[in-house]
Amino acid sequence: MQTHRPRAFSALLMTLMLLSMLLFSIFRPAETSDQLTRILLTLLLTSIPLLFFLTSRREPARGFVTGASSLTECGVPSTRFADVAANDEALESLRDLIDFIKEPEKFSHLGARIPRGVLLYGMPGTGKTLMARALAGEAGVPFFAVNGADFVEMYVGVGASRVRALFQKARKAGRAVIFFDEIDAIGKKRTNQNDEREQTLNALLSEMSGFRDGDGIVVLAATNRVDTLDDALLRPGRFDRRIEVPLPSLSERLKILEVHARNKPLSADVSLQDVAAETALFSGARLESLLNEAAIVAAKRSGTVISQDDLDKAMDTMLFGMDRPGGLNYRQEKEQTAAHEAGHALLTALLLPESAIRKVSIIPTGKGAAGYSMAIPPEKLFYQKRELLSHIAVALAGREAEKLYSGDDNLSTGAANDIEKAAGLAQRMVCEWGMMPGGTEAYLFSQAQRENAQQQWLDMGQQLAAGMLRRHMPAWQQLTRLLLEKETLGKEDILRCLTDFPRQQ
Ligand code: ADP
Ligand code: MG
Ligand code: ZN
Repeated sequence: MQTHRPRAFSALLMTLMLLSMLLFSIFRPAETSDQLTRILLTLLLTSIPLLFFLTSRREPARGFVTGASSLTECGVPSTRFADVAANDEALESLRDLIDFIKEPEKFSHLGARIPRGVLLYGMPGTGKTLMARALAGEAGVPFFAVNGADFVEMYVGVGASRVRALFQKARKAGRAVIFFDEIDAIGKKRTNQNDEREQTLNALLSEMSGFRDGDGIVVLAATNRVDTLDDALLRPGRFDRRIEVPLPSLSERLKILEVHARNKPLSADVSLQDVAAETALFSGARLESLLNEAAIVAAKRSGTVISQDDLDKAMDTMLFGMDRPGGLNYRQEKEQTAAHEAGHALLTALLLPESAIRKVSIIPTGKGAAGYSMAIPPEKLFYQKRELLSHIAVALAGREAEKLYSGDDNLSTGAANDIEKAAGLAQRMVCEWGMMPGGTEAYLFSQAQRENAQQQWLDMGQQLAAGMLRRHMPAWQQLTRLLLEKETLGKEDILRCLTDFPRQQ
């Protein structure tokens, strides 16, 4: 608010001046009928507002800069790590920083290079802001929270001066945690020319490299899309520590629900365990608002405790309003993801036994995929044709499994990466390694021949995947069921499915 006052004030003054000028020229006072006096007076009257206008032009910029510090939330937060349920791994990485913020000298005396920037990445609502605030709370230092979007302005240089003002404030505090939410607003990969953003980014980078070793200042930044960030941000000495903040697993959801149920009376028929089981893909923030919504439902019916019925109603409202995963299709989407990932996992176990599968999950990663089956490829120099075909089949198995599960018409867009991977491999097989389907080799051939050969490899991979899935239908179905129930499966679970449900004819 404050920032607009100088501007409004000068505008008012200017209107007043112009008005008086107008009045003056219309009702010319008798004693100034003299031509020269009139000109002089007019000049004087026009120059005053002009002068005002010119001096007030700098005002808004200065006002905006101080305005930025009013956006920041400072003071030592009361939040603690104990307020953060789940996210254990992320908290562990942050725990190291507490000592460093409290006693930077202890580290700098020993010549230890101290982490300056930590990037938290994960979906919205997974507790990134909460953890940053808790870090400041644990270290007992002021917390400066800003949003990246507030540093990108129309006027070139405003964002940069805001960054400098922010760091100046933090330095004055001595020790501090600075939190940049939505850092991607400033730190997107530099593609098109945007001077303002570029200057803001440079200011941030130079402030960060300007830290002295005795400073107990740590900069945390949050984003939900780490892949879009400019490499300059990720270099050593900047945000070189990256912490993934995943969506909570089943047991983590229970812990988060317990934290937020502390101040809410639940009736005896409510099982938070069941609620946790029903809320796959919910973030911490969503779980919190689910309980809040249930409390509101209970209050509306003038209940004294929150019942299972209230929770069910709240759940319906939540699922209906959810943008991702998509509203009413939420359950179907989850099932389809399970079928898809089970397809990848099964084919990996069958076709690439030497690639040790570690786990398969339907919980999305911070990198945009709906689920993943992680396999560790063996280290080797050469791949055989047969093996490359297997890799194509594994990549396409997700889509094939979806087809089996819900039919050709209900395919999801979740296989885009898989298709890209398979097509890329087929292209290299043909164009780089001269591998043709059907046992022939070829080195010189036309564009059409190449494309035809690649398509044949893809078709073969697809048929291999579909055939395998059909022959191992019971094992694949069991894997899908288990995934829906447990969300994440380890290597043993996958292999057990295969031995418990042997191949059909
Ligand atoms: P993000 O910054 O990742 O978008 P926030 O930290 O803003 O998420 O989370 C919003 C709210 O959701 C928190 O204030 C808290 O109430 C709840 N929440 C999220 N994650 C957790 C968690 N791990 N434990 C407890 N509460 C959580
Ligand atoms: Mg946040
Ligand atoms: Zn896939």
